[in-house]
Amino acid sequence: MKNIDLFDKMKMSNSDLGKYQKVAEGYLIFPKLEGEIGPIMKFRGKEVLNWSLNNYIGLANHPEVRKADADAAKEWGLAYPMGARMMSGQTKYHEELEQKLADFVKKERGYLLNFGYQGILSIIDTLLSRNDIAVYDSDSHASILDGLRLHMGKRLVYQHNDMESLEKQLERATKLATERGGGILVVTEGVFGMEGDLGNLKAITDLKDKFNFRLLIDDAHGMGTMGATGAGTDEHFGVQDKVDVYFGTFAKSMAGIGAFVAGKTEIVDFLKYNMRSQMFAKSLPMPMVIGALKRLELLIGHPELREKLWIIVNAIQKGLKEAGLNLGKTESPVTPVFFEGNVAQGTNALVDLRENYGIFTSIVVYPVVPKGTVMLRIIPTADHTLEHVERTVAAFKEVSAKLKAGEYDADEVTLDIK
Ligand code: PMP
Repeated sequence: MKNIDLFDKMKMSNSDLGKYQKVAEGYLIFPKLEGEIGPIMKFRGKEVLNWSLNNYIGLANHPEVRKADADAAKEWGLAYPMGARMMSGQTKYHEELEQKLADFVKKERGYLLNFGYQGILSIIDTLLSRNDIAVYDSDSHASILDGLRLHMGKRLVYQHNDMESLEKQLERATKLATERGGGILVVTEGVFGMEGDLGNLKAITDLKDKFNFRLLIDDAHGMGTMGATGAGTDEHFGVQDKVDVYFGTFAKSMAGIGAFVAGKTEIVDFLKYNMRSQMFAKSLPMPMVIGALKRLELLIGHPELREKLWIIVNAIQKGLKEAGLNLGKTESPVTPVFFEGNVAQGTNALVDLRENYGIFTSIVVYPVVPKGTVMLRIIPTADHTLEHVERTVAAFKEVSAKLKAGEYDADEVTLDIK
């Protein structure tokens, strides 16, 4: 008897994305965008109008942000503070930032997380014990799903944003939790990052009258973009007091790295003392913390940045819809454009957009979207202009017509680019 070599599975052609590696790496996958972050960047040496960064309110290259980052790096370096928060990695700036974040999202306390992905995974892992039941939306982000994979107890999935399905699962969860002496955690995204639709937070929180559960929202794309003050999707729905645990990342509107969790003091204290991703990992370096303080100050103090974002969002979504394009159910800045076609046709459309129209977007294919559909995803930002919008709508209109006329027909992704 002989077992296979562990590394046999690494023959890339076996994985969903891996099979495109040869033809697509550097172009569709791992493309290099160069130059200052903004709407105009360089791709393969040519200027492109770029719609693929989550720099929603334009903080990434804001002069005050760049200065704060540079000054903090000069003053503190990237090492300080050394050690995990609990041991030797605590500073008054970390505390100040988490309290300011908590105040902003109308929660009692906040706690910093080094990365969003690990953070939400670890929050879920920490909140759930073996007897507890997790109930989650079927379109949840990988970081949520991976957190749920760590859960040793029951996980019940409900159909994406389907309140009847959620109610059914809550009935099951209530029964199971009662038998086992556990509690129930419902998890949803605020803004679903791929398709831009909103977690149905009003209806979900209304179910609290009927069922006994706690609610965690991952508001990666909602913080800074949604709600009257940019405090997130729960502010948008007027249900901030009904969200028990709020998660936001610095990777999107805050244009940095790191994340935070916020909630009632007793919940955050529990997380502080039990969350393994923070207890056993080095504290967020000072420039990230000082930089995040500056970003938050600008996010709160300059609502015109968010207003500008929404001018661009509304203009491009209106323009694309009027051009007959299908944007699905988005209610947020995330702007998916769905086309009927196979991956090869979608890729040819994308190449035409990049090479001949100078427009850079990302492509999303099966299994993220159904077979026979491709999505080109547009992320508007406050740095874009109405002229950028006009150019893009005109280009998408032409590309859509070419797709329908069969100009991109192909069975295989070939990417024959000079
Ligand atoms: N949740 C959602 C919904 C996301 O889109 C992402 C990706 N940024 C994350 C969590 C992970 O956040 P981070 O990039 O900060 O690790």
